[in-house]
Amino acid sequence: MSEQYQAPGSQRSSDIRLTPQRIAILQVLRSTDTHPDASWVYDEVRKQLPHISLATVYRNLTRLAEAGMIVKLELEGQVSRWDGRTQAHNHISCTRCGRVADIAPVSLTESVWDHITATSGFRVKGYYLTCYGCCPDCVQRDGARQSENV
Ligand SMILES: [Zn+2]
Ligand SMILES: [Zn+2]
Repeated sequence: MSEQYQAPGSQRSSDIRLTPQRIAILQVLRSTDTHPDASWVYDEVRKQLPHISLATVYRNLTRLAEAGMIVKLELEGQVSRWDGRTQAHNHISCTRCGRVADIAPVSLTESVWDHITATSGFRVKGYYLTCYGCCPDCVQRDGARQSENV
């Protein structure tokens, strides 16, 4: 049983044509670990390709994700975020500021696997783990605000 997630579609990376737009998008995404949304990617790509439209950026992001070259993150209460890192890893998002960070692969214990199999009947092959909470900056801001009020 694999304990790593397999990015859906990650085997199909060869069937995509790398246009200048897609190359620019890939470069932008691989140069950051902030898991940006499409409009941030658009702003960055426009520095190289001033005439590109947001719709084109969005369409190419979707296509690159389908080809397994990037990962689309659907996080609760947030617009889609995009990740240039396709190796197995998991995420944590801040419910205050929306920041998304990577967390290293986690091994689930046998009892968790057994529980999932027992309750779903599925043979489990992998998983995405997405945590949410409060990022260090927001925790610090909260602390500062509280001490102001004292
Ligand atoms: Zn935060
Ligand atoms: Zn990530």
